[in-house]
Order: sequence, then C-alpha cells, then structure tokens
Amino acid sequence: MIKSATITANKETTAKIIYASGSILRLEQYFLERTALISHKIDVQTDLNQPLQLLPIFRERVWGREDLRPFFTQMPPNQRIGEVWFTFRENATSADVTLGELLARRPEILGRGADPEYPGVCPLLVKLLFTTERLSVQVHPDDEYARQYHDSLGKTEAWYVVDAQPPGEVAVGFRETITPERLKETAQSGEIETLLDWRKVRPGDAIFTPAGTVHAIGAGLTICEIQENSDITYRLYDYGRPRELHLEHGVKVSHLGPHNFDAAPVKLADGRDELVACEYFRIERLRPKNEVHIDRGTPYYLLLICLKGSGTIAGEPFAAGQCWMVPSHHTELILNGPGSEWIATYKAAEPLAGLHIK
Ligand SMILES: [Zn+2]
Repeated sequence: MIKSATITANKETTAKIIYASGSILRLEQYFLERTALISHKIDVQTDLNQPLQLLPIFRERVWGREDLRPFFTQMPPNQRIGEVWFTFRENATSADVTLGELLARRPEILGRGADPEYPGVCPLLVKLLFTTERLSVQVHPDDEYARQYHDSLGKTEAWYVVDAQPPGEVAVGFRETITPERLKETAQSGEIETLLDWRKVRPGDAIFTPAGTVHAIGAGLTICEIQENSDITYRLYDYGRPRELHLEHGVKVSHLGPHNFDAAPVKLADGRDELVACEYFRIERLRPKNEVHIDRGTPYYLLLICLKGSGTIAGEPFAAGQCWMVPSHHTELILNGPGSEWIATYKAAEPLAGLHIK
C-alpha cells in the first residue's frame, strides 16, 4: 500500500511540474532519480577538486522530438524536446545546488576560463539538439554588437554531429555573395533558403559557425552544440511558422558571402582529435581505448560530454547523454571508459598538455 501511494505521489508531482513550467521542462523527478544515483555529494564549502555532474534541462521546441533515446529515456508524454541544456545557471548539479548558485559561491571553479565581465556565469553553453524539422534560418551578433544592444555576450557556436538521418543537412553561409537588400528581400519571400550553402553532414563532422554566419540546422540530426553563453538569436526566416523575425538586427550583423571552414580534425594523439579551436573555446573528441587521465592542477575548467559508452569518472558512474564539469585546479582525474566517446571543451590558447589517453 505504502509503495503504491509513493508512486502515485511521484507521478502527480512530476505531472504538476511539467505542466506548470510551460516550455521550460525541468524534470524534477528525473533529477531526483538521477541525483539519488550519485553517492558522492560534493561539499560546496570545501570539496572542489572533483568533477561535478550537470543535470539536464529539457526545452520544448516546435522542431523537436518526443523520443530522445538512447540519451534520455524518461521523457514527458507528448512534448517535443528540441534542446537539452547543461551549463545554464538553472541547471541542477551533483553538488546539490544549481550551477548559478555554485559559481556565485565558488567562482574559482572556472579558473582562467572565467569571463571577468560576467563572473559567476559559465562562459560556455553546452547543449544537445534533437531535430525533426528544419530550424529557422538565423544569425547571431558578435560580442560588441550584443553588448551594445542587449548587454549580453555575442554568440559564436560550433556543432558536432552525433547522428544524421536523411536528409541530414545544415546550411552555413551563402553559396554566392549577396547584398544586404537582397538578404532582406529573400528573407521576407523565403527565397533565402535556396541561396544558403546546404551541406550534407555525417556523424563525426564538426562545423564552426562564428558570430555573423547565417545558418540553419536541418531535420533528422542529433548535434552537440558548444557556444558562448548567450541566447541572442536573430531569426531571418522561419518557413512560415508564426514565430517573430528579427530582420533589422539580422541584416546588420550578417556576413553576406560563403563561409569557408576546414572541418578536418587535427589528431593530437591516438583517440584524441581537435575539432575546433577559436578564441572562445577548443573542442576535442576523445575516444579512449581504456582510460583518460588528466594531470592535477589544470588552471581552467573543462566540460566533458559523454556521447557513447559507460564507465566511471573519478570513481563515479557515467553514461551517454551526461555532462561533467571538471573544476580548475582539480586533483588527478581518471576516467575509465573503454570504447567510450566524449566531447571535451575548454578555453585555452593551446591544447591541454596534461590530458593523456590510453
Ligand atoms: Zn544558431
């Protein structure tokens, strides 16, 4: 009797939270279940040398998906989740406080990776995207423009393709250079879609999209997105969906020609490839045969996103679809995950020397 009463109460609580919070789906029940699995609770006052798990926030999108397997199995019914966020201030953590509270109390977690203008904010936003339709044709401002008009960071972003079902395309830049007038006119008519440089992508591809690059993500894709922690998007065209457009700002910040990006990964070691390096972040793919070791004392924070496999990180179990933050000045870290696949991202002038892959 007691057992069934508990289950009922949990279901009601979950349902209430899902329906009360609108498009921001904070699956508290999911958090509780996942958090209960984490035996090592981090003491925010003292213990900051171990990796923290960042628990997901699910966001509903018109182009999203109801089924996010194999990454997430406990989903609310009839919701199309397009984005799963990990490093927003409201993300729950294995330290039992939100990431925002944690960084406000212990900003040194970020180390040299912090942005002095926005202390207490994780400068990188990590997301998983799940698409069933084309996303809007959009563009993001750079830091200077975003500061002037929105008191925000700009948005340079990069995508790592985790899975691609047909047609499996993204658009990045224009096939030929156009004028600002033509951009505005074709955004209004929808012709812009045919001017964009659509490219087929495959799992393992990385695409770098600096601020000002007009872009669109196609249907059928699962993408790991790394970006500056900003939510400033100018929508140029939305396939007739009834969402607001932002042509005035959008035309001002758009680059009007082709976007050239050499997507060939740079091999740093066996099982370690650098995919993107820019002033805001470096992105690597880690595919250990057995283990990843990171020497103690990295002067900046790292984010590790598991895309495949399972094992332990600093003795704690991990699985695909999880994001872990390694604080700056951590102790030696051992990630045991034979055959696992990770995206690692951090801000540094050079690839991390203390990372060894075995
Ligand atoms: Zn974008």
